[in-house]
Amino acid sequence: MRIEEDIKLDFKDVLLRPKRSVLRSRSEVDLERHYKFLHNQHLWHGIPIIAANMDHTGTFAMAKELTKHKLLTAIDKFAPIDEWQKQTKTVVKHSWVSAGSSDDDFNRLKATMKQVDCPFICLDIANGYSEHFATFVKKTRAAFPDKVIMAGNVVTGEIVEQLILSGADIVKVGIGPGSVCTTRIKTGVGYPQLSAIIECADAAHGLKGHVCADGGCTVPGDVVKAFAAGADFIMLGHMFAGHDECAGELFELDGKPYMRFYGMSSKESMEKHHGSMAEYRASEGRSVNVPYHGPARDTVLDILGGLRSACTYVGAARLKELAKRATFIRVTQQINPIYEH
Ligand code: 5GP
Repeated sequence: MRIEEDIKLDFKDVLLRPKRSVLRSRSEVDLERHYKFLHNQHLWHGIPIIAANMDHTGTFAMAKELTKHKLLTAIDKFAPIDEWQKQTKTVVKHSWVSAGSSDDDFNRLKATMKQVDCPFICLDIANGYSEHFATFVKKTRAAFPDKVIMAGNVVTGEIVEQLILSGADIVKVGIGPGSVCTTRIKTGVGYPQLSAIIECADAAHGLKGHVCADGGCTVPGDVVKAFAAGADFIMLGHMFAGHDECAGELFELDGKPYMRFYGMSSKESMEKHHGSMAEYRASEGRSVNVPYHGPARDTVLDILGGLRSACTYVGAARLKELAKRATFIRVTQQINPIYEH
């Protein structure tokens, strides 16, 4: 047994220090990023925020709306091919085809990619440390040499390097921070998300790879902190939940409208997709009722407004400069914001 003594930080443990700036207005801030990826020739530009590939948020209705703002959507892995085929070219170009790491997942991925001209693949498993996953990433890279492949989830530098060397362009970072994730409670495993992003971004950027910070953002300020910590992309579940574009019905509780949002490893999800939960595993996700927030557009504009404003506070004319300009200060009190959007 060994104990690492250095402190690992979460979003709530820091704030950004304001800096002298020549920017006069938020409107001067450019949030678009231009990326070239390590293993292929694909050039992408847009605002690097992705709706999570969960049943509730990874929908084509969400993709349609987010595409208008140059954001991306990871479509849930159970989306049927004929639904993909109904989408416009622009929506498909702003979406990710998702898969796990089983043979079934691989076959479904191959079948989808045969019919759909989507540039992005998101390989997503709870524990990206398993040897089998790196082999699966290699197999996927060999089958799709021209696609952008994102793979995860992990939280430490050495495995980021392994996944990038196995063929991932982007490594997805986050074990345990998700709003409906119970991994830390059920297993005691996890890593504070801000430190995970800082350490993984450092490892990825050294190899010309990218990272996507996945999970734990609860307010626009957390999105700012994740980019400031070095994230190239950010994936959001909870912040995009409860909108018109999400899957699921609206219902009333105590006279107020809500929608159901569940973890993809929750009992609810297992029962929906597999009929029941296997006896050998514990659910590592929960189900929650989220307040209804109306159209996703308002939330998108709120997040982008927060990002622009943060850039003016630290003197970053472009989102690209935010991490370079950022100085975090550690704070002692727990900030526990309630996000009214
Ligand atoms: P959020 O933005 O809601 O905090 O986090 C979204 C992320 O939580 C997803 O992208 C995914 O990585 C993770 N997640 C989704 N469902 C589950 C689950 O059931 N269990 C765990 N451990 N993580 C989940």
